[in-house]
Amino acid sequence: MQQPPAFFPDRARIAVLTCEPVGVLDYLAPEGGVRQGALVLVPLGPRRVLGLVWGPGAGDFDLTRLRPVARVLDAQPFAPQFLDFLTRAADYTLTPPPLMLRMATRAPDLDQPPAARRVIVPGAARPFRMTEARQRVLDVIADHAGASFGSAELAQLAGVGSSVVKGLVAQGALAEIAAPRDLPYPRLDPGLPGKPLADDQRAAADRLRAAVARGGYGTTLLRGVTGSGKTEVYLEAVAASLAQGRQALVLLPEIALSAEFLDRVEARFGARPGEWHSGITRTERRRLWHMAARGEVGLVVGARSALFLPFRDLGLIVVDEEHDGSYKQEDVVYYSARDMAVLRASICGAQVVLASATPSLESWVNAASGKYARLDLRSRYGEAELPDMAAIDLRAEDMPSGLWISPTLAQAVTARLARGEQALLFLNRRGFAPVTVCRACGEQIGCHQCDARMVEHRFQNRLVCHQCGETGPIPTACPACKVEGRLAPIGPGVERIAEEVAARFPDARATILSSDLFHSARALKETIARIAGGETDIIIGTQIVAKGHNFPNLTLVGVIDADLGLQGADMRAAERSFQLMRQVAGRAGRQSGAAPGLALLQTHQPDHPVIRAILSGQDEAFWDAEAAARQSVGMPPFGRLAGVILSHPDLAVLADFARLLADSAAPLRQAGAELWGPAPAPIARIRGRHRMRMLVHAPRQAPIQAAIADWLAPLKPPANLRLSVDIDPQSF
Ligand code: ADP
Ligand code: ZN
Repeated sequence: MQQPPAFFPDRARIAVLTCEPVGVLDYLAPEGGVRQGALVLVPLGPRRVLGLVWGPGAGDFDLTRLRPVARVLDAQPFAPQFLDFLTRAADYTLTPPPLMLRMATRAPDLDQPPAARRVIVPGAARPFRMTEARQRVLDVIADHAGASFGSAELAQLAGVGSSVVKGLVAQGALAEIAAPRDLPYPRLDPGLPGKPLADDQRAAADRLRAAVARGGYGTTLLRGVTGSGKTEVYLEAVAASLAQGRQALVLLPEIALSAEFLDRVEARFGARPGEWHSGITRTERRRLWHMAARGEVGLVVGARSALFLPFRDLGLIVVDEEHDGSYKQEDVVYYSARDMAVLRASICGAQVVLASATPSLESWVNAASGKYARLDLRSRYGEAELPDMAAIDLRAEDMPSGLWISPTLAQAVTARLARGEQALLFLNRRGFAPVTVCRACGEQIGCHQCDARMVEHRFQNRLVCHQCGETGPIPTACPACKVEGRLAPIGPGVERIAEEVAARFPDARATILSSDLFHSARALKETIARIAGGETDIIIGTQIVAKGHNFPNLTLVGVIDADLGLQGADMRAAERSFQLMRQVAGRAGRQSGAAPGLALLQTHQPDHPVIRAILSGQDEAFWDAEAAARQSVGMPPFGRLAGVILSHPDLAVLADFARLLADSAAPLRQAGAELWGPAPAPIARIRGRHRMRMLVHAPRQAPIQAAIADWLAPLKPPANLRLSVDIDPQSF
């Protein structure tokens, strides 16, 4: 399966990986030549920077004019298939190759020869005098037993100045030593027995095991209601890949990377997998990167960027909760980790498992057309039943003014509290109130940099812009008419629901789960573990509660505003809203043997097709209807789309260039594509930059990337204009 890397004896083309990518340049190879995919240091002006051997140098170039490679850092190259993947991913997403390569070299200190790295480890002595700052540093060390840190990283994690760490080293409480070699990960044992599987699980697991054992590429949509035991099934595919001596990658939405999941892997294979997400230390990041490249980590569990680790021989990629929006990156490189997983697997001969209770319409259609295999788990594992579902028609409820929990929902909560069970109130809105309005003049307080309203966050006691992060104090006088005391928060966010809960259920313990209230992934994980352990009665959460957590004692889910996602011009609104509500409802009653859970949707439109589909449980009919609607207008996945976002501080400059683009669209039309827009982007101004959007629409088979490249290449954007292309945009 592995082809040998190309070898370049005298010159090589090297992708230069500085912070601002310079591109690909030719260099003289070091004595003895260099292999494709090797990591090197090369001179660039007065500096030495990281580079990756990309291909052969241009033959007609005068060798004496080339500068030599300064040093080979890692001669053990990226596997050729990995470079092939990066090239094709760059082509697909219209990303310059060095930018794409930077995604694959995002580990700290890759440009440092191992011997030069120094790290801090615990010392033998105790500090003469313990201060709070010193204690914080020692706590961080104790919290990460076995890990080592660079001194700057340690100070940063502890939130202290670097002098505190230096002081502890001087006293012998810590020691600074040359970094030890990165250690391989403990071997996972695929031979250990898994849980005995239910019949439908066994059938699905057998199919996946066979596909992995056969080798070669294939994608399977593993569809099963929440709690049906999909994880147990795909862990069998992992076992098959490990048994073949190949590596496996499980992608999870970042927030679902819970301790619980790692425990399940450990229980199954006797050791913990490598972890890759924003919460790991720099040392772990570096170690995992090297071990992935050497094939010395069998299983990696990670967030979307783990897809760009330099695995030596990947046999399986699982994308859990494959419909999740967090798999799409919309920054610098615009890519979908789900789609790139399929591309990577097709190049390196691996199997892909896309697991979800609510697949994306793309995957649903691919499974329906036979492009993907499909496996279904139709019931929950064991005795656990799916929750009962009902709508609460808000038009018929006697809603107390200024409150958002209807009498019917309140009654259901009270019943759960009396039984010692948990209830979840779901509202996909961070903060206290989405709008602050002046009752004297009608002014709504907006962000001065963005086309967005400021959102009141009562815990921080600030107004916050959810677009740019700008915050300000909550004013007492209206900024427009200057009248005092007439500003009022309008509409609910989760903090406001929490206030209502505190007033109406004063004896209940309540916890808010909202991403802005946790300063680290670790803090969030701890809270989730406490909820799972029963230390709270009522959870008030935004969409982060929808993501795969197991709360065994949770029996009621109340959706505060089921209509929230249904409006809006976005064609994907129905799909997203359906997925979110189905996932949230699925949190209820996951305990085997317990009474079925209950999910109640508060709505003003109980007859809306999405609400009806959720209540009836006719998911397949819903997907088929959505697919038919998209097909009738040639929208994805039946047609192709690319978004082009332009931004500039000056609206006139922006509009002029947008018009020029629209007038030069002949290459698009020649390729069978059409251009829609320019129009103001969905958020028309962010951080002081005006934004316009165009959509390129084409039939499914049209060469959309090449056409866009031909279209944009001859046009010279004005200074300070930013242009990004988003192939397969999330909203349209
Ligand atoms: P899903 O990923 O489909 O939501 P999980 O794999 O998390 O479902 O399974 C739901 C619950 O059922 C978990 O607590 C899991 O441990 C349990 N479970 C699933 N399959 C089995 C099995 N074969 N034996 C024992 N417990 C199982
Ligand atoms: Zn803003």
